[in-house]
Amino acid sequence: MPDESDATDVADTTLTADPNCLFCRIVAGSVPSTQVYHDDDVIAFCDRNPQAPTHVLIIPRLHVAGINAPEAADGPLLAAMVRAANAVARAEGIAESGFRLVWNVGHDAGQSVFHLHLHLLGGRPLGWPPG
Ligand code: 5GP
Ligand code: ZN
Repeated sequence: MPDESDATDVADTTLTADPNCLFCRIVAGSVPSTQVYHDDDVIAFCDRNPQAPTHVLIIPRLHVAGINAPEAADGPLLAAMVRAANAVARAEGIAESGFRLVWNVGHDAGQSVFHLHLHLLGGRPLGWPPG
């Protein structure tokens, strides 16, 4: 897994809504990230505390607090996130071996960042049920 020091600049965006939001700052490029994918709607970068050989976060450029926020019901936005996750899985070589997509919501799921993000995990057998 690349280290954060290999960070690439993230494309500028005019959609960043919350200057105090860590992931908005990653979208804006003011916080470094190891970016693995970007398009007009989303970016994807390596999780700084990986839980599997591949652990990538896919996030919208637009600030949305989580999958339970009203804006998250936007069909095209969710489709863009899922499309990006599949593209990253192919690029990371785990599309065939398998992977898991996770949206953590709220306290019991351990959500710690309140900017919508989809976890892509793979590269090893993943236990079920999750902890
Ligand atoms: P959550 O627990 O909210 O579902 O996931 C947040 C994820 O963001 C965690 O897996 C955590 O390791 C990751 N994370 C938190 N801060 C940073 C950061 O500054 N850079 C990167 N690359 N990942 C982060
Ligand atoms: Zn944000």
